[in-house]
Amino acid sequence: TFKALVLEAADKAPSIQIKELNTTDLPEGEVLVRVSHSGLNYKDGMVLKGLGRLVRHYPHVPGIDFAGTVEASSDPRYKPGDAVVLTGWRVGEAHWGGYAQKARVKADWLVPLPEGLTARQAMAVGTAGFTAMLAVQALEDHRLSPEDGEVLVTGASGGVGSVAVSLLGRLGYSVAAVTGRPDNADYLKSLGATTIVPREALAGAPDKPLLSERWAGCVDAVGGDMLAHVLAEMRYGSSVAACGLAGGPGLNTTVLPFLLRGVKLLGIDSVMCDHDTRVLAWERLTGLLDASRLDAMTTEIRLEDLPDYADRILMGQVRGRAVVVMD
Ligand code: NAP
Repeated sequence: TFKALVLEAADKAPSIQIKELNTTDLPEGEVLVRVSHSGLNYKDGMVLKGLGRLVRHYPHVPGIDFAGTVEASSDPRYKPGDAVVLTGWRVGEAHWGGYAQKARVKADWLVPLPEGLTARQAMAVGTAGFTAMLAVQALEDHRLSPEDGEVLVTGASGGVGSVAVSLLGRLGYSVAAVTGRPDNADYLKSLGATTIVPREALAGAPDKPLLSERWAGCVDAVGGDMLAHVLAEMRYGSSVAACGLAGGPGLNTTVLPFLLRGVKLLGIDSVMCDHDTRVLAWERLTGLLDASRLDAMTTEIRLEDLPDYADRILMGQVRGRAVVVMD
């Protein structure tokens, strides 16, 4: 048997229990993985609380990302002992996920753990950090470069934000980090932020469709009115990578930043993106991430801590990344 966090349907939020399961309880798939680490992402918080109708079938094992070692595989691409990482593909939502000591998944969903990265580091990056890499890559693909000026990161002390700040800093950008937690200013500077922008400065819809041009690029984890506000402050020809909705899914804006300043809004999806893009993003992350900065943004938790941490991440109270260590 092995340990798993299991959600069962209940009246309001699902009930959360830590149970012993058998390998035969796991869904079908080509690869059985011994999970050593999983991550806590905003979406995991939603799943654990039964929000957003992300999970349609219970009992359910959540956990949208994990890293571990292959125990058995019927797919020629993987053999026992191979180190692997998984993010996305609706694992932890439509399929059982990583909050268990074992997971059985499709071989197509796995990426070999890049050389130079430990399983713990891979989950310190996790879905959030992987998404930050895709966002930075998208901005560069749209011709952002360090000489262009300050790049804004919203929701900066969260998972996507912390990794985005660190990656941009490492690539030589001036990084303006938006946070609602002024106490995190030193933390954000240690990751590579050059300016701290208080959340109030960008909260709320802009009072005019176009404001002074300030930002050369933006990695946005917040959405909502903050994204509308940011769009009004983007420089001519710049791009915003829209990654998240921590401030709400709505977007009430005008088309003027797009029409008059050629601003581009780039959608970032980490869930269904193709395998080659994943392999390249993980390779690049491995090369760029500084181990001590990654460590500074990581908190280790256990399966038993997840009910409490689900509340915390939904309230925007987790700093950086929480990594779930399986015993
Ligand atoms: P997280 O760790 O909770 O980070 C979100 C951060 O946003 C918080 O730490 C907080 O930072 C800020 N924030 C929270 N509530 C806010 C509000 N009402 N207004 C303004 N700022 C607020 O979550 P995460 O795992 O990094 O995920 C961030 C977002 O990206 C989520 O919406 C998630 O669903 C999305 N996401 C999308 C993809 C994709 O494929 N597109 C992948 C991963 C994540 P401060 O305290 O510093 O302000």
